[in-house]
Amino acid sequence: MSLISPWRTDFPALDALERQGQVYLDSAATAQKPQALIDALTHYYANGAANVHRAQHLPGAMATQAFEDTRHKVGEWLNLGTCGHVIFTHGATSAFNLLAYGLEPLFQTGDEIVISALEHHANLLPWQQLAQRRGLKLVVLPLTADGTVDLDAASSLINARTRLLAISQLSNVLGTWQPVSTLVEMAKAHHALTVVDGAQGVVHGRHDMQALGCDFYVFSSHKLYGPDGVGVLFGRHEALARLRPWQFGGEMVLQAGYEHATFRPAPLGFEAGTPPVSGVIGLGATLDYLNDVNQSTATEHEARLHELLCTGLRLREGIRLVGVPQVALASFVVEGVHNADLAHLLTEQGIAVRAGHHCAIPLIDRLGLSGAIRVSLGLYNDSADLERFFDALDQALELLR
Ligand code: PMP
Repeated sequence: MSLISPWRTDFPALDALERQGQVYLDSAATAQKPQALIDALTHYYANGAANVHRAQHLPGAMATQAFEDTRHKVGEWLNLGTCGHVIFTHGATSAFNLLAYGLEPLFQTGDEIVISALEHHANLLPWQQLAQRRGLKLVVLPLTADGTVDLDAASSLINARTRLLAISQLSNVLGTWQPVSTLVEMAKAHHALTVVDGAQGVVHGRHDMQALGCDFYVFSSHKLYGPDGVGVLFGRHEALARLRPWQFGGEMVLQAGYEHATFRPAPLGFEAGTPPVSGVIGLGATLDYLNDVNQSTATEHEARLHELLCTGLRLREGIRLVGVPQVALASFVVEGVHNADLAHLLTEQGIAVRAGHHCAIPLIDRLGLSGAIRVSLGLYNDSADLERFFDALDQALELLR
């Protein structure tokens, strides 16, 4: 069955990579960019760059307008309504660090932070560090065999001692959706704060913050076909009122003296210094582009490609899928073959996939693996990309076994 992506030609890098003999199957790490984004960046830089929120001149006003328009577009993308604010950071990782430092005064020795066993280091290490600074306990929710959080275990591990739950929406290693709404409800029943890592989830489907009910939701623009260097932190009003600024500097200040300063409320109070202006404007253009992509056609295309990927892997002897991937990616190991050797042979054949621990070492350890190869898909991938991948895989395995 041949599957052609109607969006492939909107992403010029796909052609360029093809001319270099490359098949790009690493979109979970970072996605290629649509022409609409490239045009927006060229337009911004060619017509006058300026800082935002400071200058009274025309270029400053234009940049501020485009920057704030993006804030509005992100709000619509996440269906915030009036329930909270969008804060721009320099990436998802910055947003988690902002939260872990900014919420620190709310914690007391013995309080518990609940995460899951599959968290990316970005949603693990900032909490681990906070736990060490404050004498907190980091509680790790176990997984079921198919790679989702075990809700039975969660119902006892999330309890009156829980002060915060931080949970991934879609695993970057297992490709499994997590029961975030249920977990958020469990945490809220105990008045705990809730943080959802949407770095992978935001790319696949639309997620409604009003319905999800979490206090904070985090993602990176670069995985959503936007520029790198931009992160999004959604915060609900009540939760933002409890968050202290983490970084201090220009534009986040209401009044400053040598001994004392007061700070702006969200969102600007959490955006110290010059923000990633071009990146945010580029994210706005990317969201315009994505709003024109028919969501159900895209979801169906991705689902059919994913099915081809998983079926092809399952058909091959000695290959073991890690967990039961549901969308967008699949990680696997091959019996008797070292990941690094296989990755090397795939790379030599122009196949851009990821091998290693995928920034989730505790999960890889818990699964008893030394690493895994991850194939991940974007809007622009075709079945021809997977055919080339499988040809290369078969050749590599023939050499290695
Ligand atoms: N969480 C998940 C699930 C991710 O996949 C990633 C990126 N690999 C991150 C967080 C961190 O994103 P960034 O590196 O863009 O800050």
